[in-house]
Amino acid sequence: MFALPANKASRSDIEARGHVKASVRNATFAREALSRRDFVKISGVCAAGLATASAARASEKQTLDADRKGVLVDLTVCVGCRRCEWACNNANELPHGELSDCDDQSVFDSRRRPTSIHLTVVNRVPGRDGAAPTFIKTQCMHCEHPACVSACLVGAMRKTAAGSVIYDASRCIGCRYCMVACPYQFAAYEYEKALTPQVKKCQLCQSRTSRGELPACVAMCPVEALTYGRRDELLKLAHERIDCNPDRYVNHVYGEHEGGGTSWLYLADRPFTELGFPELGPDSPAQLTETIQHGIFKGFAAPIMLFGLLGAIGKLSHARAAHTHAVQTEKVTP
Ligand code: SF4
Ligand code: SF4
Ligand code: SF4
Repeated sequence: MFALPANKASRSDIEARGHVKASVRNATFAREALSRRDFVKISGVCAAGLATASAARASEKQTLDADRKGVLVDLTVCVGCRRCEWACNNANELPHGELSDCDDQSVFDSRRRPTSIHLTVVNRVPGRDGAAPTFIKTQCMHCEHPACVSACLVGAMRKTAAGSVIYDASRCIGCRYCMVACPYQFAAYEYEKALTPQVKKCQLCQSRTSRGELPACVAMCPVEALTYGRRDELLKLAHERIDCNPDRYVNHVYGEHEGGGTSWLYLADRPFTELGFPELGPDSPAQLTETIQHGIFKGFAAPIMLFGLLGAIGKLSHARAAHTHAVQTEKVTP
């Protein structure tokens, strides 16, 4: 808030009484001189702050490790047992019942998406012409150039060099731009928590893999439909499987290029569009997010700087006025 300069009535009184005229003029002059100096100083600080912020954002662009990890999901192997769902909830301390509850087939009656209490879900898509259905495990894809990371203004979402996209609740301001930006809509929000809601999504079991363990869902899968490893080796394995079994697979590894690539890769026996996978080009949606975001910031930089500057000057004027008034009061006190 702005404060008025030193009380004018008090100043008139002072001058009328013929006291300390010179010191008032000196104090006013000193205040103006200081204000000009401080204006320049504050402008410099604001400009430096913006430059530092830009530099920090620029430096956020990281190079991914060549041996970054991922998971290959072979949909032709998955039997829809949903043990991976149970293991995920167990590993992430989310509510879960007995393992045998996974045998409940009624969950397949509707198509589900990951939620704040189910970071991964398995859906069933009927087979063609009465053939066996396809079961599809879904979770955050851990994009190579994640739109959620790009959209996050405060760095709460981060792509690690090892490949996982992780979330830092302590930084999150709850704007949910990440959820809007995600091309798969796989980030969920704890709307049910009024005071401490968080964005919830698969973190590729970062806490387990950093200890050398497999992601919980991968470790649990009884038919080895999930394979964890280096992304480049998983891609090699996927193409080998396609080459060796051309009748079993479509010649497409989903996630190799989609949306700039993902850490989770999929093999299937029919086109992925039939299975409900979004059709994405090879460009990362993050590029679009960044273009929009940087455009917004470019436009907002000047007003933000001006408001910052005015606020700082207001505070400074208030402090100087209070100081000058105190000096004057001190001088006229008999
Ligand atoms: S990697 Fe971990 S968090 Fe992600 S779906 Fe599997 S069990 Fe859940
Ligand atoms: S809600 Fe999303 S975009 Fe917003 S700060 Fe949190 S993580 Fe970032
Ligand atoms: S799938 Fe969505 S939430 Fe996961 S990394 Fe990509 S943009 Fe982020």
